[in-house]
Amino acid sequence: MTRKLGLALAVCALVALPALTRPSIESHFDGKTWWDYVRVLADDKMEGRETGSAGLRAAEAYVVKQLQEAGVEPAGVNGYYQPVKFITHQIVEQDSSAALIRDGKPEPLLLGQDAYFGTRADLAPETEAPLVFVGYGLSIPEKNYDDFAGLDLKGKVAVTIQGSPADMPTALASHYQSAAEKWGGMRRAGAIGAISIPNPAAMDIPWSRQSANRTHVSMELADQSLNDNAGEKFSMTFNPASADKLFAGTGHTFDEIAALAKDRKPLPRFPLLVSIHAKARMEKKEIESANIIAKLPGSDPTLKNEYVVLSAHIDHLGIGEPINGDRIYNGAMDNASGSATLMDVAASLKRHPEKIKRSLLFVFVTGEEKGLLGSKYFTAHPTVPLSSMVANINIDMFLPIVPLKILTVYGLQESDLGELVTEVAAERGLQVQPDPEPLRNAFIRSDQYSFIKHGIPAVAMKIGFVPGSPEQKIFKDWLTERYHAPSDDTNQPVDLAAAAGYEEVIRGLMVAIANDPSRPQWKQDSFFRRYANSAAGN
Ligand SMILES: [Zn+2]
Repeated sequence: MTRKLGLALAVCALVALPALTRPSIESHFDGKTWWDYVRVLADDKMEGRETGSAGLRAAEAYVVKQLQEAGVEPAGVNGYYQPVKFITHQIVEQDSSAALIRDGKPEPLLLGQDAYFGTRADLAPETEAPLVFVGYGLSIPEKNYDDFAGLDLKGKVAVTIQGSPADMPTALASHYQSAAEKWGGMRRAGAIGAISIPNPAAMDIPWSRQSANRTHVSMELADQSLNDNAGEKFSMTFNPASADKLFAGTGHTFDEIAALAKDRKPLPRFPLLVSIHAKARMEKKEIESANIIAKLPGSDPTLKNEYVVLSAHIDHLGIGEPINGDRIYNGAMDNASGSATLMDVAASLKRHPEKIKRSLLFVFVTGEEKGLLGSKYFTAHPTVPLSSMVANINIDMFLPIVPLKILTVYGLQESDLGELVTEVAAERGLQVQPDPEPLRNAFIRSDQYSFIKHGIPAVAMKIGFVPGSPEQKIFKDWLTERYHAPSDDTNQPVDLAAAAGYEEVIRGLMVAIANDPSRPQWKQDSFFRRYANSAAGN
């Protein structure tokens, strides 16, 4: 009864006395300071912050200045910076070609229309190999699941449709679809390359847009021990609309396969009646970029040697093919929004200091768009001991484009961080939910994954929607129209109150982890726990 009365009073009094009737949770953000940071990072002057570019260097110099002003200390190698070396790959399409060979006769593929080369791999100048359709192309020992079983892949190219079977737990399915695991399985089966067909039911970006930037540079880390694509001589992405060219004569159609994959049903696997013959000319260059790392020391004499890591990628796609006359891929949401949150949280901790026992580490990584490369480098060459990082909260494109009512938390059921974030959100009147769209594989698609693979419990979160709600369409349309497009800029609609609410949760969660007597653990039954065990064994 008193509770109800109290609520009613609070609602009435809110108009006159907002400060007194607010719950005990303080608010530190208004969305405006955050958006001001986004506007600087996503300005045309930053040229879309491509890894290794002058635009990204300018954006990073700006970030370093803000960190200094916020009073957080350098924790990189060279001040705030940790240099990272890359090798760029760029396909020269006019000197490259591909054809399907059927009954000895070539059927040329139109690059861009039918398919395009995947350039993360170090493509061989010439490839001629039979094709085998291997369904999802997954090998998941935990579930005795093997798409390569009974098929001869030696010296051949594996053709897959992106996705996973429904009876596979989300975490396992995501993990085994990561580039390293997927290629690893194919390589062990003897394949020399892969053709991937996007799953039409889970294509964030329409084919025409994906294909438009196919000759843009891709990158690998110069540190070859971190190369996930080693041994991959051929790689191609095939347009679902042209995929029947691969299946002709087999008794199967792509429509049939796509319909099964949409519902995550088991797929047939069989040799195709065509081979691929391809010539690929790639240009390679060495470039350098950097991660930025800063720390705010904790106050406990022992626990201050441990870190709660807040990370976000600062790189984006740079300058690419024009869409509606605009060539600059500003990356306002992807991921100026996350980098801005790190700066804003750091600044808020200066304005309203918080008693924290553990230290906080702010990590702005480069090379995310090139395959999580900056975070992979950072966790392989950490600037504080790996074992001292107790948790990672990663922010990537959290999308404050609808009011904040529910948070989608990737990794919600994997570690103690799930309970902590649920509590922190509940104190602020917010609900949490696990990933409502497992087909999109979000848990492995951003930098938290690099931390997870080193045993560090991690979560990533976004403004959520309830499946089937009108908000779902807003997010879907955003992905189709703005994701990885020049229109992801600061002219788009944004909900500043939602951004502020999100930042409160991030800040609250960081503080809660920093002051928790015990460090977060993976759940007993979490698949990812194995990485903590192997890290402890090293
Ligand atoms: Zn992106």
